[in-house]
Amino acid sequence: MRLFSIACTCAEHPRARSPHMNRRGFLTASVTFAATFTTTARAQTAPASAGPADPALIEDLVAANRILFDQGVVDGFGHVSVRHDKNPSRYLLARSMAPALVTTDDILEYDLESVPVDPRGRISYLERFIHGEIYKLRPDVHAVVHSHSPGVLPFADTKVTLKPMNHIAGFLGENTPVFEIRDTAGPASDMLIRNAALGHALAVTLGPNSVALMRGHGSVTAAQSLHHVVFRAVYTEVNARVQSEALKLGQPTYLNAEEAAAATVTNNALVDRPWELWKRRAMGK
Ligand code: MN
Repeated sequence: MRLFSIACTCAEHPRARSPHMNRRGFLTASVTFAATFTTTARAQTAPASAGPADPALIEDLVAANRILFDQGVVDGFGHVSVRHDKNPSRYLLARSMAPALVTTDDILEYDLESVPVDPRGRISYLERFIHGEIYKLRPDVHAVVHSHSPGVLPFADTKVTLKPMNHIAGFLGENTPVFEIRDTAGPASDMLIRNAALGHALAVTLGPNSVALMRGHGSVTAAQSLHHVVFRAVYTEVNARVQSEALKLGQPTYLNAEEAAAATVTNNALVDRPWELWKRRAMGK
C-alpha cells in the first residue's frame, strides 16, 4: 500500500511528466524511485550489522538455550542472549521460539534498542527489551537470561526475600530485588516487558545485582559470560527451591554479604565444570 502511494506521488513529480517520457518509461522511473526510496527507508531504520559473530559464541548460545531447558529453567517460554563479540552495542538472541529447539540458523543480531539488524522474516521475542536495556545500563554484563522458572515465583510474589542458602548461590548477594511492573505500567498491564521503557525500569531495579525477580512473572539473570549466566540461572532456581524447603523448618541462616562476595569470586573460576556436564546432557553428546 505504501509502495503504491509512493508510485502515485511520483506521477505528479514534474520530471515524471516530461513529454519525452512515454508510459513505459514513466513506470520504470516510478518503480526505480520506489525501490530507491524503500531501500533508503530500510537503511535508516535497520541498524548496521557488527559483522559475523564468532561461530563458537553462536554455538555456545545454542547450547545455553538447550541447557536452560534441560535444567528446568526455561520451558516453552524464556530466552537467553549474549553480547556480540565484535561490537558491545549489538547482542545475539534467538528468534521467537521454544529455547530447546533453537539452532544456529535461528540466532538474530539486535542493537541495544532491540531492533533486529536483519530479521529475515523472523518474529522477535516480545520481551527482547529486557536484554537491550540491561546491556545499556550494565557494560560489565555480556549475557542475560529471562525465565519463568517456578521455584522463584513464591519469592517474586511475596515479601520473602530470595537469599543465598549455600556458597554456590553467593552471586545472589545479600538481597535479591523484585521488579514491580505496576510502578511503570500502571495497574492493568499484561505483565510483559513489551517496550524499552519497561525494560529500562527492570534494568534499574536489577541495578548492580546478578538477579532480579519480576512480581507476577519470573526473573532475570545477568553475568559476564554465557557460561556464568547459565550457572547463575540454574542455581537461582535451585536456591529458591532449597530456601522454600528451609522456610518450612524454621528461620534459615543465610550467607552474609561478605561470605556471598567471597564465594562468588571462587565460583566464577569454576563455572565451566557444570557447563561441560550440562552441555553434554543437553546436546546429547
Ligand atoms: Mn516473560
